[in-house]
Amino acid sequence: MSRLTYLGVAGWPVAHSRSPAIQNAALAAAGLSDWRYIKLPLPPARFAETVRALPAAGFRGINVTIPHKEGALALADEATPTAAAVGAANTLTFARSGAIHADNTDVSGLLEALPVDPAGMTALVLGAGGAARAAVHALRGAGAADVMVWNRTPERARKLVAELGGRAVDAPEPAALVVNCTSVGLRASDATFKSLPIGADTFDVGSYVADMVYRPGGTELLAEAKRRGATVVTGLEILVAQGAASFERWTGMTASREAMLATVEDRAQST
Ligand code: NAP
Repeated sequence: MSRLTYLGVAGWPVAHSRSPAIQNAALAAAGLSDWRYIKLPLPPARFAETVRALPAAGFRGINVTIPHKEGALALADEATPTAAAVGAANTLTFARSGAIHADNTDVSGLLEALPVDPAGMTALVLGAGGAARAAVHALRGAGAADVMVWNRTPERARKLVAELGGRAVDAPEPAALVVNCTSVGLRASDATFKSLPIGADTFDVGSYVADMVYRPGGTELLAEAKRRGATVVTGLEILVAQGAASFERWTGMTASREAMLATVEDRAQST
Protein backbone atom coordinates (compact mmCIF):
# COMPACT_ATOMS: atom_id res chain seq x y z
CA MET A 1 0.00 0.00 0.00
CA SER A 2 1.47 3.37 -0.97
CA ARG A 3 1.96 5.97 1.75
CA LEU A 4 0.12 9.28 1.31
CA THR A 5 2.02 12.56 1.14
CA TYR A 6 0.29 15.39 2.99
CA LEU A 7 0.05 19.14 2.47
CA GLY A 8 -2.18 21.50 4.41
CA VAL A 9 -3.16 24.96 5.56
CA ALA A 10 -2.60 25.98 9.17
CA GLY A 11 -4.73 28.79 10.59
CA TRP A 12 -6.97 29.73 13.52
CA PRO A 13 -9.71 29.68 12.41
CA VAL A 14 -9.26 27.90 9.09
CA ALA A 15 -12.72 26.45 8.39
CA HIS A 16 -13.45 29.11 5.74
CA SER A 17 -10.25 28.47 3.77
CA ARG A 18 -10.54 27.87 0.02
CA SER A 19 -6.97 26.51 -0.15
CA PRO A 20 -7.93 22.81 0.22
CA ALA A 21 -10.27 23.08 -2.79
CA ILE A 22 -7.74 24.80 -5.04
CA GLN A 23 -4.77 22.68 -3.96
CA ASN A 24 -6.61 19.36 -4.26
CA ALA A 25 -7.75 20.46 -7.74
CA ALA A 26 -4.11 21.13 -8.68
CA LEU A 27 -3.01 17.76 -7.22
CA ALA A 28 -5.69 15.95 -9.25
CA ALA A 29 -4.76 17.84 -12.44
CA ALA A 30 -1.10 16.89 -11.92
CA GLY A 31 -1.99 13.22 -11.39
CA LEU A 32 -0.65 13.23 -7.82
CA SER A 33 -3.29 10.78 -6.59
CA ASP A 34 -1.41 9.84 -3.41
CA TRP A 35 -1.13 13.43 -2.18
CA ARG A 36 -3.76 15.10 0.06
CA TYR A 37 -4.16 18.72 1.17
CA ILE A 38 -6.05 19.20 4.45
CA LYS A 39 -7.09 21.89 6.94
CA LEU A 40 -4.99 22.17 10.10
CA PRO A 41 -6.86 24.20 12.73
CA LEU A 42 -4.05 25.19 15.11
CA PRO A 43 -4.41 27.59 18.04
CA PRO A 44 -1.35 29.85 18.45
CA ALA A 45 -0.14 28.03 21.57
CA ARG A 46 0.07 24.72 19.64
CA PHE A 47 1.43 26.09 16.33
CA ALA A 48 5.20 25.66 16.64
CA GLU A 49 5.23 22.22 18.30
CA THR A 50 2.64 20.84 15.86
CA VAL A 51 4.41 22.16 12.76
CA ARG A 52 7.73 20.66 13.90
CA ALA A 53 6.00 17.25 14.14
CA LEU A 54 4.47 17.41 10.64
CA PRO A 55 7.45 16.16 8.53
CA ALA A 56 7.55 12.87 10.48
CA ALA A 57 3.78 12.52 9.95
CA GLY A 58 4.18 12.53 6.16
CA PHE A 59 3.81 16.24 5.39
CA ARG A 60 5.81 17.82 2.54
CA GLY A 61 4.75 21.38 3.30
CA ILE A 62 1.99 23.70 4.45
CA ASN A 63 0.41 27.06 3.76
CA VAL A 64 0.09 29.32 6.76
CA THR A 65 -2.63 31.90 7.29
CA ILE A 66 -3.88 34.28 10.00
CA PRO A 67 -2.57 34.46 12.76
CA HIS A 68 0.52 32.33 12.11
CA LYS A 69 2.46 34.05 9.29
CA GLU A 70 5.00 35.74 11.58
CA GLY A 71 5.29 32.61 13.74
CA ALA A 72 5.96 30.51 10.63
CA LEU A 73 8.91 32.69 9.68
CA ALA A 74 10.23 32.61 13.25
CA LEU A 75 10.28 28.80 13.49
CA ALA A 76 11.83 28.15 10.05
CA ASP A 77 15.44 27.03 9.74
CA GLU A 78 15.90 29.10 6.60
CA ALA A 79 13.89 31.72 4.72
CA THR A 80 13.90 33.29 1.27
CA PRO A 81 14.98 36.94 1.11
CA THR A 82 11.35 37.76 0.22
CA ALA A 83 9.89 36.16 3.37
CA ALA A 84 12.62 37.76 5.50
CA ALA A 85 11.95 41.21 3.99
CA VAL A 86 8.17 40.96 4.39
CA GLY A 87 8.60 39.62 7.93
CA ALA A 88 6.09 36.81 7.38
CA ALA A 89 5.81 33.45 5.63
CA ASN A 90 2.73 31.89 4.02
CA THR A 91 4.51 28.76 2.76
CA LEU A 92 6.63 26.24 4.66
CA THR A 93 8.42 23.40 2.87
CA PHE A 94 9.87 20.44 4.76
CA ALA A 95 13.18 19.09 3.45
CA ARG A 96 14.00 15.38 3.69
CA SER A 97 16.53 16.32 6.38
CA GLY A 98 13.63 17.71 8.44
CA ALA A 99 14.75 21.33 7.90
CA ILE A 100 11.91 23.86 7.56
CA HIS A 101 12.16 26.36 4.69
CA ALA A 102 9.99 29.52 4.68
CA ASP A 103 8.77 31.54 1.70
CA ASN A 104 6.15 34.20 1.02
CA THR A 105 4.22 33.52 -2.19
CA ASP A 106 1.71 36.32 -1.47
CA VAL A 107 4.35 38.56 -3.11
CA SER A 108 4.74 36.67 -6.39
CA GLY A 109 1.00 35.81 -6.32
CA LEU A 110 -0.06 39.45 -6.47
CA LEU A 111 2.37 40.22 -9.30
CA GLU A 112 1.26 37.17 -11.28
CA ALA A 113 -2.42 38.05 -10.89
CA LEU A 114 -2.00 41.69 -11.97
CA PRO A 115 -2.77 42.07 -15.68
CA VAL A 116 -0.29 44.95 -15.92
CA ASP A 117 3.40 45.48 -15.15
CA PRO A 118 3.40 47.90 -12.20
CA ALA A 119 6.82 49.33 -13.16
CA GLY A 120 6.56 53.13 -13.26
CA MET A 121 2.97 53.16 -11.93
CA THR A 122 1.51 55.15 -9.05
CA ALA A 123 0.00 52.68 -6.59
CA LEU A 124 -2.18 52.97 -3.50
CA VAL A 125 -2.10 50.14 -0.94
CA LEU A 126 -4.95 50.19 1.59
CA GLY A 127 -4.05 48.48 4.87
CA ALA A 128 -0.94 47.78 6.92
CA GLY A 129 -1.31 44.14 7.95
CA GLY A 130 0.38 41.05 6.50
CA ALA A 131 -1.27 41.30 3.07
CA ALA A 132 -0.31 44.97 2.77
CA ARG A 133 3.29 44.22 3.70
CA ALA A 134 3.47 41.62 0.90
CA ALA A 135 1.82 44.04 -1.57
CA VAL A 136 4.16 46.94 -0.79
CA HIS A 137 7.21 44.69 -1.08
CA ALA A 138 5.90 43.28 -4.37
CA LEU A 139 5.07 46.66 -5.96
CA ARG A 140 8.32 48.33 -4.89
CA GLY A 141 10.33 45.33 -6.05
CA ALA A 142 8.54 45.47 -9.43
CA GLY A 143 9.51 49.12 -9.85
CA ALA A 144 6.29 51.02 -9.08
CA ALA A 145 7.21 54.72 -9.18
CA ASP A 146 5.23 55.73 -6.09
CA VAL A 147 3.63 53.42 -3.50
CA MET A 148 1.26 55.21 -1.12
CA VAL A 149 0.12 53.34 1.99
CA TRP A 150 -3.05 54.32 3.83
CA ASN A 151 -4.24 52.58 6.99
CA ARG A 152 -7.13 53.13 9.42
CA THR A 153 -4.54 53.19 12.21
CA PRO A 154 -1.97 55.61 10.70
CA GLU A 155 0.95 54.61 12.97
CA ARG A 156 0.92 51.13 11.43
CA ALA A 157 1.22 52.61 7.92
CA ARG A 158 4.16 54.74 9.07
CA LYS A 159 5.86 51.71 10.64
CA LEU A 160 5.31 49.67 7.45
CA VAL A 161 6.89 52.28 5.14
CA ALA A 162 9.80 52.80 7.55
CA GLU A 163 10.57 49.08 7.12
CA LEU A 164 9.57 48.40 3.51
CA GLY A 165 9.59 51.77 1.73
CA GLY A 166 6.78 53.70 0.05
CA ARG A 167 5.11 56.65 1.75
CA ALA A 168 2.35 56.76 4.33
CA VAL A 169 -0.60 59.01 3.43
CA ASP A 170 -3.58 60.27 5.44
CA ALA A 171 -5.45 61.39 2.31
CA PRO A 172 -4.53 59.36 -0.78
CA GLU A 173 -3.79 61.08 -4.07
CA PRO A 174 -5.06 59.60 -7.36
CA ALA A 175 -3.38 56.29 -8.26
CA ALA A 176 -3.40 54.17 -11.42
CA LEU A 177 -3.39 50.97 -9.32
CA VAL A 178 -5.34 50.44 -6.07
CA VAL A 179 -4.80 47.31 -3.97
CA ASN A 180 -7.22 46.73 -1.09
CA CYS A 181 -5.34 44.84 1.61
CA THR A 182 -7.80 45.61 4.41
CA SER A 183 -10.45 43.10 5.41
CA VAL A 184 -13.17 45.62 4.45
CA GLY A 185 -15.59 43.93 2.05
CA LEU A 186 -15.36 40.53 3.72
CA ARG A 187 -18.91 40.82 5.10
CA ALA A 188 -21.96 41.73 3.03
CA SER A 189 -22.75 44.49 5.55
CA ASP A 190 -19.34 46.23 5.12
CA ALA A 191 -19.81 49.76 3.77
CA THR A 192 -16.69 49.77 1.59
CA PHE A 193 -16.89 53.36 0.47
CA LYS A 194 -17.41 54.66 4.01
CA SER A 195 -14.61 52.62 5.57
CA LEU A 196 -11.94 53.31 2.95
CA PRO A 197 -10.58 56.72 1.83
CA ILE A 198 -11.70 56.28 -1.76
CA GLY A 199 -14.91 57.08 -3.58
CA ALA A 200 -16.71 55.11 -6.27
CA ASP A 201 -15.73 57.97 -8.63
CA THR A 202 -12.00 57.32 -7.97
CA PHE A 203 -11.94 54.59 -10.57
CA ASP A 204 -11.76 55.25 -14.24
CA VAL A 205 -11.20 53.51 -17.54
CA GLY A 206 -7.51 52.63 -17.54
CA SER A 207 -7.14 52.22 -13.79
CA TYR A 208 -6.51 48.88 -12.10
CA VAL A 209 -8.13 47.73 -8.87
CA ALA A 210 -7.12 44.57 -7.01
CA ASP A 211 -8.99 43.33 -3.93
CA MET A 212 -7.30 40.81 -1.65
CA VAL A 213 -10.69 40.10 -0.08
CA TYR A 214 -12.71 37.27 -1.58
CA ARG A 215 -16.28 36.38 -0.81
CA PRO A 216 -19.13 34.63 -2.62
CA GLY A 217 -20.52 36.95 -5.26
CA GLY A 218 -17.46 39.24 -5.23
CA THR A 219 -16.90 42.53 -3.41
CA GLU A 220 -18.66 45.88 -3.72
CA LEU A 221 -15.31 47.56 -4.40
CA LEU A 222 -14.63 45.49 -7.51
CA ALA A 223 -18.24 45.63 -8.71
CA GLU A 224 -18.16 49.45 -8.66
CA ALA A 225 -14.66 49.65 -10.18
CA LYS A 226 -15.73 47.34 -12.99
CA ARG A 227 -18.88 49.37 -13.61
CA ARG A 228 -16.70 52.44 -14.09
CA GLY A 229 -14.42 50.77 -16.62
CA ALA A 230 -11.45 49.86 -14.42
CA THR A 231 -9.69 46.53 -14.88
CA VAL A 232 -10.21 44.42 -11.75
CA VAL A 233 -8.31 41.58 -10.09
CA THR A 234 -10.24 39.41 -7.64
CA GLY A 235 -9.00 38.00 -4.36
CA LEU A 236 -9.64 34.51 -5.76
CA GLU A 237 -7.28 35.17 -8.68
CA ILE A 238 -4.61 36.32 -6.20
CA LEU A 239 -5.33 33.30 -3.96
CA VAL A 240 -4.89 30.94 -6.90
CA ALA A 241 -1.63 32.58 -8.00
CA GLN A 242 -0.06 32.40 -4.52
CA GLY A 243 -1.33 28.84 -4.10
CA ALA A 244 0.11 27.79 -7.45
CA ALA A 245 3.52 29.12 -6.43
CA SER A 246 3.34 27.17 -3.14
CA PHE A 247 2.28 24.00 -5.00
CA GLU A 248 5.27 24.31 -7.33
CA ARG A 249 7.69 24.63 -4.41
CA TRP A 250 6.31 21.46 -2.76
CA THR A 251 5.88 19.24 -5.82
CA GLY A 252 8.39 20.56 -8.38
CA MET A 253 5.52 20.42 -10.91
CA THR A 254 3.60 23.16 -12.70
CA ALA A 255 0.23 23.91 -11.09
CA SER A 256 -2.85 24.09 -13.30
CA ARG A 257 -4.21 27.58 -12.61
CA GLU A 258 -7.27 26.73 -14.73
CA ALA A 259 -8.19 23.72 -12.55
CA MET A 260 -7.61 25.71 -9.35
CA LEU A 261 -9.69 28.70 -10.46
CA ALA A 262 -12.53 26.54 -11.80
CA THR A 263 -12.91 24.94 -8.36
CA VAL A 264 -13.15 28.16 -6.40
CA GLU A 265 -15.44 29.83 -8.92
CA ASP A 266 -17.83 26.89 -8.64
CA ARG A 267 -17.79 27.11 -4.86
CA ALA A 268 -18.12 30.92 -4.79
CA GLN A 269 -21.35 30.55 -6.74
CA SER A 270 -22.72 27.71 -4.65
CA THR A 271 -21.92 29.00 -1.12
P1 NAP B 1 -4.51 41.74 9.04
O1 NAP B 1 -3.03 41.61 9.21
O2 NAP B 1 -5.42 41.38 10.16
O3 NAP B 1 -4.80 43.28 8.61
C1 NAP B 1 -6.11 43.76 8.48
C2 NAP B 1 -6.08 45.18 7.87
O4 NAP B 1 -7.44 45.59 7.64
C3 NAP B 1 -5.45 46.24 8.79
O5 NAP B 1 -4.75 47.17 8.00
C4 NAP B 1 -6.70 46.88 9.44
O6 NAP B 1 -6.47 48.20 9.86
C5 NAP B 1 -7.64 46.86 8.26
N1 NAP B 1 -9.06 46.97 8.65
C6 NAP B 1 -9.80 46.05 9.31
N2 NAP B 1 -11.07 46.52 9.49
C7 NAP B 1 -11.11 47.76 8.93
C8 NAP B 1 -12.13 48.74 8.79
N3 NAP B 1 -13.39 48.55 9.26
N4 NAP B 1 -11.84 49.90 8.13
C9 NAP B 1 -10.60 50.11 7.65
N5 NAP B 1 -9.58 49.22 7.75
C10 NAP B 1 -9.84 48.05 8.39
O7 NAP B 1 -4.99 40.88 7.78
P2 NAP B 1 -4.17 40.50 6.46
O8 NAP B 1 -3.48 39.21 6.64
O9 NAP B 1 -3.35 41.66 6.03
O10 NAP B 1 -5.39 40.22 5.43
C11 NAP B 1 -6.22 41.29 4.98
C12 NAP B 1 -7.30 40.71 4.07
O11 NAP B 1 -6.68 40.16 2.90
C13 NAP B 1 -8.11 39.58 4.70
O12 NAP B 1 -9.46 39.70 4.31
C14 NAP B 1 -7.48 38.32 4.10
O13 NAP B 1 -8.40 37.24 4.03
C15 NAP B 1 -7.10 38.81 2.72
N6 NAP B 1 -5.98 38.09 2.11
C16 NAP B 1 -6.19 37.52 0.87
C17 NAP B 1 -5.16 36.86 0.22
C18 NAP B 1 -5.41 36.29 -1.13
O14 NAP B 1 -4.61 35.46 -1.59
N7 NAP B 1 -6.46 36.70 -1.83
C19 NAP B 1 -3.89 36.76 0.82
C20 NAP B 1 -3.70 37.35 2.07
C21 NAP B 1 -4.76 38.01 2.70
P3 NAP B 1 -5.95 48.54 11.37
O15 NAP B 1 -4.45 48.40 11.32
O16 NAP B 1 -6.40 49.92 11.61
O17 NAP B 1 -6.60 47.53 12.31
